[in-house]
Amino acid sequence: MGTFWAIDNPTPLGKPVYLRWLMTEYCNYRCTYCFFENHSRDHRYPVPVTRRDILRNPLKLLKLIKDKRRNSCHAFTNFSPSRWADAFERFFPQQVVLSITDGEPFLDRTNFRALLLRLTAMKHVVHIRTDTNGTWNPLFFEGVDWRKISLNLSYHPSMIPLEMFTKAVKEKLDRGVQIGMVNYVLAPLQLSFFEKIKDAMVPLGVFVNANVYVGPMTQTEKGYALYKKYTPLIDVTLRTNEIHSTGELCMYPALAYDLNPMGYANVGCFPRINGDFIASRLPERFSDRVPCPATACNCGCLDKYAFLKQVGRGVKMDLLEEYVEACRLHRGEYVVSRTGEGSHAA
Ligand code: SF4
Ligand code: SF4
Repeated sequence: MGTFWAIDNPTPLGKPVYLRWLMTEYCNYRCTYCFFENHSRDHRYPVPVTRRDILRNPLKLLKLIKDKRRNSCHAFTNFSPSRWADAFERFFPQQVVLSITDGEPFLDRTNFRALLLRLTAMKHVVHIRTDTNGTWNPLFFEGVDWRKISLNLSYHPSMIPLEMFTKAVKEKLDRGVQIGMVNYVLAPLQLSFFEKIKDAMVPLGVFVNANVYVGPMTQTEKGYALYKKYTPLIDVTLRTNEIHSTGELCMYPALAYDLNPMGYANVGCFPRINGDFIASRLPERFSDRVPCPATACNCGCLDKYAFLKQVGRGVKMDLLEEYVEACRLHRGEYVVSRTGEGSHAA
């Protein structure tokens, strides 16, 4: 099973599929810099069908009824874990890489465990990355094969004391959970805390990301200095919008589908080219790199802009690992030997 996208030389099984899944907006935290306004599990998306649409085309009434049954912001309110898993299974033998982003997926531990048990048992699902704030006990996820899963574990100092967070990280490592990195948002009011979390993670061997803040507060000189010290310049300039991705060649739309909690998916970054993931009716992705259609790729999503030609990543299927390697190299913490194997410089 693959470790690399091998996009210039696809296997006879075709290109791998990258699914970037916004599984839920439901979260137990209320971070001030969060992109989401609603963290309740009861939140529902409006169904964009008006009375006028129905009068013009009565078939739209069917869509309205169907979509009202699947418009929760939480994937497992819309469909059971087995319905979701069945849809993933139907990609076989194409390789699948999955990123679960935003919200707190581990809160619904019964359903999420059931899904992870199914997904990790599928040979063609080669890697799963999931975002989490870490407030869950690995004991509730007994039986999950963590070897395929990598956590993007975010630390929010306004929500949890450092000691409790460190304990939660240790608990996970002790149970074999793989932590790709701890993500720390360098929001203007929490810049001074970065070194503390970084130092606390050193004995555990866990990398801490100095994530560029994206939001309404004004960026500060100190913030920029930290971004540039700890993160490669290409990442800083893209995330702060100093350079734009518009029109630049990007492989993401050739590999990815953006999947939402309702079970609809679109070709990466092209919302109008869409289909039904649950019914396995998906449009073709682009055959090769295409010019970026967005004004900027600045959502801070390293697993998207990595596929820009000018960034030069998007080679490894474990995009988090690839990003951490680039940051370590930038920080002088990592050297690459002539055999291509990495080792820590210090
Ligand atoms: S933990 Fe993440 S999803 Fe939850 S409120 Fe904070 S930033 Fe938002
Ligand atoms: S640069 Fe970002 S927004 Fe543009 S196509 Fe690539 S992933 Fe999409």
